[in-house]
Amino acid sequence: MLANIKYWENKAVEGQYAIPHFNVWNAEMLMGVIDAAEEAKAPVIISFGTGFVGNTSFEDFSHMMVSMAEKATVPVITHWDHGRSMEIVQNAFNHGMNSVMRDASAYDFEENIRLTKEVVDYFHPLGIPVEAELGHVGNETVYEEALASYQYTNPDQAAEFVERTGCDSLAVAIGNQHGVYTSAPKLNFEVIEKVKKAVDVPLVLHGASGISDADIKKAISLGIAKINIHTELCQAAMEAIQANSNDSFLELERKVRSAVKQRALEKIELFGTKGKAE
Ligand SMILES: [Zn+2]
Repeated sequence: MLANIKYWENKAVEGQYAIPHFNVWNAEMLMGVIDAAEEAKAPVIISFGTGFVGNTSFEDFSHMMVSMAEKATVPVITHWDHGRSMEIVQNAFNHGMNSVMRDASAYDFEENIRLTKEVVDYFHPLGIPVEAELGHVGNETVYEEALASYQYTNPDQAAEFVERTGCDSLAVAIGNQHGVYTSAPKLNFEVIEKVKKAVDVPLVLHGASGISDADIKKAISLGIAKINIHTELCQAAMEAIQANSNDSFLELERKVRSAVKQRALEKIELFGTKGKAE
């Protein structure tokens, strides 16, 4: 069934677990994730973003996302990831997404507040929660170089940011990065602890593919309530393709769906979400 992200993030904060957020942009990924959520009896977020429009028409695929969310036996949230403009998140809402992220983290503090608040003010009367980002989680690059000029979330700005924007959840930058880590992730857990003390909204961890299980568990124990996974689903799919490249395309797609399901199940278990939808 379609579910409310705010309800589930708050439950996760209380229960010290994290709601899994999976980026899905084709049928195999979407079905694999829903298979996993149903088998694990877990609430789950299925999410689309601008980076995928070159592969998949969102305006068409959104119907499948919404349909599968509605029919699922577990709570499913339909989400837009990293909305870079008001128009983009409005289009997401108009196509059935019931949760959006407005990412203005590439701008300075004041402009990030202004752009985020504009989206919050538009969506709150519609009952749609808004995730925002403070600090900046960068894109796939050489990790060590990225760390040298990394923009960590400033805990001293977090309270003011949440209060002035009215955002419903906050993505933090703690040394995490999107894509593949070229060396072991170095997370600054002190930032989570300080931000958690400063604000009363659920915290979100992006770029969680490749972060060790121990670090994920520690992040959850310190207050992370939503965790984004994309790269590891792609890796699971690629491994299935490489291992079964002599199969027919029909058979291959079933194996990709199954590999995505398996990886999603592992994450659901790791995040402590298994059985939470019961
Ligand atoms: Zn992200």
